[in-house]
Amino acid sequence: MINPEQLSRYRQTIRKISDRIEHLASRCLFSDPLIHGSATEVFRKCGRANCKCATNDADRHGPYKVIQVVRDGKSRQVCLRRKQEEQWQLAEHYQYQMEKLAELKETCLELQQTVTEIIEKRVQKFP
Ligand SMILES: [Zn+2]
Repeated sequence: MINPEQLSRYRQTIRKISDRIEHLASRCLFSDPLIHGSATEVFRKCGRANCKCATNDADRHGPYKVIQVVRDGKSRQVCLRRKQEEQWQLAEHYQYQMEKLAELKETCLELQQTVTEIIEKRVQKFP
């Protein structure tokens, strides 16, 4: 069974979850294009034997902006030219949107579980 106090607490919980769902969904409501990839920065060795990067990892060159993309089922790292930095931003935005979507899915599940809990507490056996 469920008493009025518990029900009131459940109402507050559901209100909080619903607000979070609305907020998370609104973080994905944009019209800008996205690039399906993972934007990161890398440091590299240049390959010259007498360069300081050859002996010390801390002296590697960079950071260079790269996008990790999946093509033909294989993951590839695409190095971007300076002119392509906008592409890097689009991939970074994509990652952000995917994070928000994952949070949204989790929060929807939380709402579902809370409602299920309320219903289960009210269920009685047929007399
Ligand atoms: Zn070097």
